[in-house]
Amino acid sequence: MKTVAQVVVIGGGVVGCSILYHLAKNGWTDVVLLERMELTSGSSWHAAGGLFTVVRPNAAAEIHKYTFQIYRELEKESGQDCGLHVTGGINICRSQEEMDSNAMMQSACRRLGIESHFISLDEAREKVPLLDTSHMLGALWEEEGGHVDPASATQAFAAAARQLGAEIYRHTPVTATHQRSDGSWDVDTDKVSIHAEYIVNAAGLWGREVAAMAGIELPLMPVEHHYLITEDLPIIENLGFELPQINDNETGVYARQEGMGLLLGAYESPCTHWAVDGTPLDFGHELLDEDLSRMEWNFEKSVELMPCLGDAGIKRIINGPMIFSPDLGPLIGPHPQLSNYFCANGVMAGFNQGAGIGRALAEWIIQGEPEIDIFCWDVARFGAWADKSYTRQTTRYFYQNRSEKVYPYQEFEVGRPIHKPAVYDRLSEANAVFGSSFGHEHANWFAAPGVEAKDSLTYRQPNWWKPVIDEGKRIRNELGLMEFSTMAKFEVSGSAAGRWLDFVMANKMPNLGRMTLSPMLSAKGRLAGDFSIARIDEDRFMVLGADTMQLAFMRHFDRYLPEQDVVLKNLSTEFGGLHICGPNAQALISRLAQADMDSAHFPFMSARSMTIGNIDKVLVFRVSFTGESGYEMYLPMQQQLALFDLLRSEGENLGLGLVGTRALMHTRLEKSFPAWALELSPDYTAVEAEMDRFVSLDKPDFVGRDAVIDYAPAREKFVTFSVDAGECALWGDEAIFLDGEPAGYVTSGGFGPLTEKHIALGYVSCDAYQITGQYSIEILGKLYPAELHLEPLYDPAGAKMRA
Ligand SMILES: Cc1cc2nc3c(=O)[nH]c(=O)nc-3n(C[C@H](O)[C@H](O)[C@H](O)COP(=O)(O)OP(=O)(O)OC[C@H]3O[C@@H](n4cnc5c(N)ncnc54)[C@H](O)[C@@H]3O)c2cc1C
Repeated sequence: MKTVAQVVVIGGGVVGCSILYHLAKNGWTDVVLLERMELTSGSSWHAAGGLFTVVRPNAAAEIHKYTFQIYRELEKESGQDCGLHVTGGINICRSQEEMDSNAMMQSACRRLGIESHFISLDEAREKVPLLDTSHMLGALWEEEGGHVDPASATQAFAAAARQLGAEIYRHTPVTATHQRSDGSWDVDTDKVSIHAEYIVNAAGLWGREVAAMAGIELPLMPVEHHYLITEDLPIIENLGFELPQINDNETGVYARQEGMGLLLGAYESPCTHWAVDGTPLDFGHELLDEDLSRMEWNFEKSVELMPCLGDAGIKRIINGPMIFSPDLGPLIGPHPQLSNYFCANGVMAGFNQGAGIGRALAEWIIQGEPEIDIFCWDVARFGAWADKSYTRQTTRYFYQNRSEKVYPYQEFEVGRPIHKPAVYDRLSEANAVFGSSFGHEHANWFAAPGVEAKDSLTYRQPNWWKPVIDEGKRIRNELGLMEFSTMAKFEVSGSAAGRWLDFVMANKMPNLGRMTLSPMLSAKGRLAGDFSIARIDEDRFMVLGADTMQLAFMRHFDRYLPEQDVVLKNLSTEFGGLHICGPNAQALISRLAQADMDSAHFPFMSARSMTIGNIDKVLVFRVSFTGESGYEMYLPMQQQLALFDLLRSEGENLGLGLVGTRALMHTRLEKSFPAWALELSPDYTAVEAEMDRFVSLDKPDFVGRDAVIDYAPAREKFVTFSVDAGECALWGDEAIFLDGEPAGYVTSGGFGPLTEKHIALGYVSCDAYQITGQYSIEILGKLYPAELHLEPLYDPAGAKMRA
């Protein structure tokens, strides 16, 4: 056995074996996998192995697609049959809402060339003669669907990894992990200790136990999951072809052919947690006690759809555990608290996602970053607020509501509230409809008095459409007051603070009393963050960015943080924020600030700590994301209420009204201002996202500089459209067509409050892009004419925000 390796992967399920394979395939062959029993001794051996590719968001679709496509190659490379059946897949639509949901997925998947199309009920019956289509409105056909044999697929990854030089030690449980002072790890087993540069926790059902060995807690919770296999069915025996993968999302059921019978699995309600306090160490190739009564509702709905099930005998019932994160998505990537420690946990659909996750982790370990933006599954998306109780509540909720559709802008009540801003009760009294971001409650919009403060859920125009437009008009014409704590807020101080920020950020740092906008780049020149940075004192800066990214940002900062002369503090929860925006904002701040606030003394992009009313040391930043004159104010959360009351009473005769963050997101569309996670993400270079004007190549050195100099030609072009969408709504992920052919995709959409136009921001491939030509955007299966705008629809010169 080796005692030294570059990487030790802990866990020989499909995910661990895929990571090992991808490391070796990418040239890192001095890698070891440790498995406590036989390979597949967790969830992997009893999986149903179903495969599908039409999913959202885009990163998930890319990972599903890659995983689906690798099995053939893997079979050739390993010499091991994966038991792959490429049958295609059918998504059953029982309602118009499900048709809409599928139409949105179909449009979103065009970006990756994932082929799907709606089929008629007759075609659905041809493909699945078992169906009673009277319960259906339609169906979406996906070309890349099917199933694999789980044990064989896992063994194929293992065999291919071994052939490339990787080593696998079975019956070798990891008993402890210790980090050395240089960041490397000692991995103890019952036989030897292996010294490794990196470790990967791919321990599946035991992810929590292996994490605890390194002193960390992962938000994971196992649940029980049933599927059954019927006796042979005559209708299947007489088919002459293999049935496709069947997804009946509205009933939480998936089905496929198994031999001459049917395999039918369900996301049961109620969800039953398993091993809440820890997965037994002696659990292995066992199953849990079956309880088919939990599947009763799902089964009855399936009999309605496939009546032959009504008389089918049941050959086998599987009740196996699988382990989930709070939103049921995987937890992958470098753990934010530990260097050289990678997570590959909570993988919900290892046979759909295992290869893509393996590829992404291998890139992350070897190259320092994955090739695609995978933040939707990043372990850093949950903070300490995602504790055991939260994880228990959310896994239960999302598991048993798997049959519910997810709507644009949908907020989930489960597990909330966690952190409330000091002005929460004031917002509540004003009938705020709250959302949550990284555990922070914030007002999305305000319902009229007497109206229920709740979002309606639809793919068309929801109940908040008009109120948000009205709030946007208030920002454009008078004055809006917004609770604004949902920003990641970092204080960087110390004698080397400016020098260090100049190195981690791509733009030059501002002078005292000024602000700047700066992208943060990865070593490969991709966007890693987008910040407003204010210089409060010579050696003290405030750095503001996307709230949800705060642990991911900290992880990036920590890579480059010197041991002394720079103090970095994450004040995101401690500090509250308020934002005033609109043509009357300057009048209001002038009334209250004990400083000259006219544009000559406090011009656009000024920053200062000042007294507002009788509240000292308020950090006031003159910036704008709405396109109007605006001031963001930050202060310790305990003082937020006093400042809020002051602004509100003094602003009354200036037309001040409360506005929510959705109004901000819609007004910025009129300015074509890009937002993090939508237009800006690691999927783009600074040039593609048109952020290169904030990259200071005249600085001698900063992270990503070499990559910027060597940028390959841009692949995509950032674009703005107004769309003749009538009563529809644009949400993001819709396909953009040029002269009838797919040419790009929308990243965010909405309605401009002043321009009164549907607006879409997005990207068009540089190969396709033209200024002339007939653009259109696909909304719920129909194409709507779109007009390309070469500059923002509102105040392109930016005079308003500078006034
Ligand atoms: C009933 C059921 C049906 C499913 N159907 C599908 C499906 O149709 N399609 C799909 O894609 N997915 C499906 N899944 C999900 C799929 O099974 C999982 O996503 C996948 O198996 C997770 O793989 P893993 O490698 O992360 O974990 P696991 O398979 O749990 O593997 C973890 C491995 O780590 C080892 N290990 C743990 N601790 C240690 C230690 N200390 N030292 C060394 N080794 C250790 C374990 O022995 C185990 O072999 C299903 C799951 C269930 C339960």
